[in-house]
Amino acid sequence: MPSGTCYPGGMQQLRTHIVPTRKPSREEVVVLGGGLGGLTVAAFLVRAGCRVLLFERGSALGGCCATRTVDGVRFDVGANYFGRHLLNVFRALGRRGPFEAISIKARGVIRQHGITHPFGGHSLPEFFSTGMGAPGMISLLGRLYGQLCFDVYRKEASSEAVMDRVAGDPLLAAFFHMEALLLGSQAERMPSYLFNVIFGSGYGFDRPFYPAGGAEAIVACMAEVVRQHGGEVRTGQGVDALELDGGVIRGVQVDGVRIEARRVISTLGTRATAALLPEGAAPGLAEAAASIPRGLRFGTLLLALEPGPAAEPELHTVVCAGADLASAMRMLFEGRMPPLVPFVLTRPGRATDPASNGLLPAVVRFPLPQGAEDDAELLEGAAREVMDAAEGEAPGLSDHVRWWRLYSPRAFREAFGFEACYSPELETRDVPKPGHQTEIGGLYLAGAAAGARGVHTGAAAESARGCARMILKEART
Ligand SMILES: Cc1cc2nc3c(=O)[nH]c(=O)nc-3n(C[C@H](O)[C@H](O)[C@H](O)COP(=O)(O)OP(=O)(O)OC[C@H]3O[C@@H](n4cnc5c(N)ncnc54)[C@H](O)[C@@H]3O)c2cc1C
Repeated sequence: MPSGTCYPGGMQQLRTHIVPTRKPSREEVVVLGGGLGGLTVAAFLVRAGCRVLLFERGSALGGCCATRTVDGVRFDVGANYFGRHLLNVFRALGRRGPFEAISIKARGVIRQHGITHPFGGHSLPEFFSTGMGAPGMISLLGRLYGQLCFDVYRKEASSEAVMDRVAGDPLLAAFFHMEALLLGSQAERMPSYLFNVIFGSGYGFDRPFYPAGGAEAIVACMAEVVRQHGGEVRTGQGVDALELDGGVIRGVQVDGVRIEARRVISTLGTRATAALLPEGAAPGLAEAAASIPRGLRFGTLLLALEPGPAAEPELHTVVCAGADLASAMRMLFEGRMPPLVPFVLTRPGRATDPASNGLLPAVVRFPLPQGAEDDAELLEGAAREVMDAAEGEAPGLSDHVRWWRLYSPRAFREAFGFEACYSPELETRDVPKPGHQTEIGGLYLAGAAAGARGVHTGAAAESARGCARMILKEART
C-alpha cells in the first residue's frame, strides 16, 4: 500500500471521525453505493466492529429504494412494495423498524380476467377467477408441487420452458410473461426460478408490508444503524476509480482524492464495477459485464391524484397486460409497439402523506420498444394509451388527476439517478453471477446485482448480509 495515501486528511482523520466500537477490528472497508444493499452491508459490518466509510454518488441515499418529492408530492420512485424477507434482515439488526403490514388491494386485467399483483398474493378464488376451474387448478398445483419437489424448475433451460411445462394454461403462461416484462428481461432468457418468485416463497411477497413514511423510511432506518455504530456515510460523492496493486485492491478515487482501503465492497452491479477498474484488470468481471443483455426500458408517469372513488387510498396496483402478453413482449424486444401497452400502476395505500397536501401519488410504468426509448412521440402516444386503459380499469381515474409528469427512460435516470427498469443483469440465467468475491483480492460485490436470489429489496439486503458474513469470517481466519 503506497504510504501517505488515505482519506482526505489521512486515515488518522477517518479514525477520529469514527466512534470507537465495542469490538475493535483492524478492518477498513469502503462501500460503494448508498442504496439498500450498500447500507445493509455497512450496517452488518459496523455492528461487528468494522470501520466503514460509504460513498453515495447521489445527493440522497436510497438508490432504487427511494422516496422523492416532485412538486410537493412524495413518490416512491423505485421500489414500492416489500416482502417479509426484508423484515428478517431488519430483525437480525435488532430493528423492528417503522414498518407496518398492509393489505394490498389490486385490480388488473389479463384477457379480461382479474389477477392479483404483486406476486405471491394470490388467493384460490383469484386463481379460479382466471377461468381455470377446479380440475385445472388441481392439476396445476400437482405439477407445481412436482416441479418444486424435484427441483426441475432450476434445471429447465429457461423460464419459458418452465411455463410450457408447468403452466399448460395459456393465461397463466401470459401472466409469467408479464413478470418477465416487469423485469425488463426476455422470458426466454430468464432463470426458471423466477417461477418460484411468482408464488411468493422466494421473496416473501405473500406477506407484503409497506413502511410508514414511504420507501425512504427503510433506507433511513438502515442508515441510522450504520451511523449509530460509528460508520460514516457520505452523499454527493461518487467513486471514480478503483485502485489496485498486484491484483489486490488498494483503495478508491473520489473527486481526485485517493482513499486507502483494505476491502472495497461495490453495490453498483457487475457492469458499473468493471468500469471502475483499470482495463484488463479483471477479465472475468469484464466478460460477465459484457454478456449482460439490455432489457426493456420503461416510460414513467407520475400522477398526483385527488382522493376519490376512482382513486381510493387502498388501491395499490393496477396491472393491464393486454390480450396476448407473450407476443406483446416479443414485439417490444423486436422494437415494435404492441397493440395495447402493458403497464403497472402502483399507489401504496399508506402514501397519503400530510406532506403531499392531501394528494395521492401514483406511479405508472410501461415498457417501450427496444431501441425506441428516446422517441418522444411514441412515449406520449403510449402514455395516452396507458391512461385510457387505466381509466377502463378504474373509471373516473382521469378526473382525479391534478397534475402529471411524463418521463422518458433518459429523463427518469437524470431526475432520479437510476433506470426505470428492472435490470436484466439480475435475472438472466446466461449471465454468470460473480458472487460476492471477485478475482481482485479485497474487492467484493453485494446488493441486488450480486444476490443469487433476484432483484427485489429483500434479495438486495440478504445479499448484502451474506457479503458481510463472508468478510467477517475471512477477517477471523
Ligand atoms: C423501477 C423499479 C421498481 C422496483 N420495485 C420494487 C418493489 O416494488 N419491491 C422490491 O422489493 N424491489 C423493487 N425494485 C428492486 C429494488 O429497488 C432493488 O433491488 C434494490 O433497491 C437495489 O438495491 P441496491 O443497493 O442493490 O442497488 P441500488 O439501489 O441500485 O444502489 C446503488 C447505489 O449506488 C450509487 N452509485 C452508483 N454509482 C456510484 C459510484 N460510482 N459511487 C458511489 N455511488 C454510486 C447509486 O446512486 C445507488 O444509490 C425495483 C427496482 C426498480 C428499478
